[in-house]
Amino acid sequence: MVNHSDHNFDYTVVGGGLFGAAAARHLSYQGHNVLVFAPEEPQERVSHEGVFASHYDEARITRMLDADEIWSDLAQTSIKRYQQIEFDSGIKFHHNAQYLFLAHNEDDSLNLNINVAKAHNIDFDLLDSFSLNTRMPFLQIGIDEKGLLEPSPAGYVNPRALLRAQLKCALDKGIQLENQIVNELVETSNGVEIITSEGHRYFTSKVLLTTGVHTNYLLDSPLDLYIQGRMVVFVKLSDSLVKSLSEMPSISHHPANRVNTYLLPPVKYPDGSTYVKIGVHNSERILKSDDEIREWFRNGTDKHEKEIAYQSIVELIPTLEGQPIHTETCAYTMTATGHPYVGMLSSHIGVAVGGNGMGAKSSDEIGRLGTAVLQGEIIDKCFTPIQEKFVSGRSKFHL
Ligand SMILES: Cc1cc2nc3c(=O)[nH]c(=O)nc-3n(C[C@H](O)[C@H](O)[C@H](O)COP(=O)(O)OP(=O)(O)OC[C@H]3O[C@@H](n4cnc5c(N)ncnc54)[C@H](O)[C@@H]3O)c2cc1C
Repeated sequence: MVNHSDHNFDYTVVGGGLFGAAAARHLSYQGHNVLVFAPEEPQERVSHEGVFASHYDEARITRMLDADEIWSDLAQTSIKRYQQIEFDSGIKFHHNAQYLFLAHNEDDSLNLNINVAKAHNIDFDLLDSFSLNTRMPFLQIGIDEKGLLEPSPAGYVNPRALLRAQLKCALDKGIQLENQIVNELVETSNGVEIITSEGHRYFTSKVLLTTGVHTNYLLDSPLDLYIQGRMVVFVKLSDSLVKSLSEMPSISHHPANRVNTYLLPPVKYPDGSTYVKIGVHNSERILKSDDEIREWFRNGTDKHEKEIAYQSIVELIPTLEGQPIHTETCAYTMTATGHPYVGMLSSHIGVAVGGNGMGAKSSDEIGRLGTAVLQGEIIDKCFTPIQEKFVSGRSKFHL
């Protein structure tokens, strides 16, 4: 066993996902001595024994329009920093594509989005179905639907590239990056001893946990979190479809008689093909244990959801009918409040978790808030972490 106890750090970030990488960048820019545990994305999921993350993809919607003011604020603050992060890292992750919130006339969230947008000076056009069909002839929009079109910088971010960009900035400022899983945190009177699955030990004054779906397995008193298993359907595009959908925005769709969905415009993937992606807000699929989470990432599938997603996308974009499709699974962390939990759990351990399925675009500000609480700053009460009330003998993390 290697003993790293003589390695003392001011701050340690456990979890190099989007929140953790953002926190690492902010801490490194302040000149601190920072250690980051960031296990790499598995090469092959099926045989992966380690931890998983919510960002294994090439596109996440970015937008300021939101029915919730807090989320809208987090997005606005983060989006303002995209250019600087791209400049500092030399890595492009942000794509201007616009964002369309499309809903049937009676959907309450139309007005909620409009109210937040007006209160926060967010640019948008309110368009009826005729204007939408004229501007976006590739979409088949119902007569009873309206859209809020948010101009660029709305569009999408590439979460893998955003992660690389944040870590590159932090590495340039001298952080230490470890591709290791943390198994245990032992809090002492002046800091925290960190023990990894490889048996290495480190010592740090303060720790920020940004461990996403695996967070509760590191805590003695778990947080009131639940993990939602999600599936996405990718539709492969021919060259002519790539061309005809080139003006497609990122979309959230709340139709009258179907489930709510979200869609990403054509995005080129590492396999060289271009896909349009759809996700369905269909069933609640709560993953109740760490084993269930890992199994969902490795082998999860749901034929029924795949069919619903396919029908939904073909109804909205009829030219996609008959194109090859495949699915992927993912999971994300939901909080009891619907907002991220950012706060101190004890004198030396803080958390920034709970993207609630929409944290990628706002990850820079959520990570920064994590660093602020570590340094004793008081932040908005809406982020206060809530402890789980009934602890059901959850077994602690062990790899
Ligand atoms: C299908 C899907 C669609 C989504 N769509 C959008 C969207 O359109 N727009 C949007 O803004 N957001 C979207 N999101 C949400 C967004 O991806 C998440 O909110 C975001 O990735 C959360 O970041 P995180 O850092 O909290 O967690 P993660 O990205 O999951 O990072 C957690 C990290 O902690 C590490 N870790 C865990 N345990 C340990 C340990 N013990 N030791 C060391 N490291 C550990 C993991 O390796 C991981 O890298 C979507 C998510 C999913 C799944």
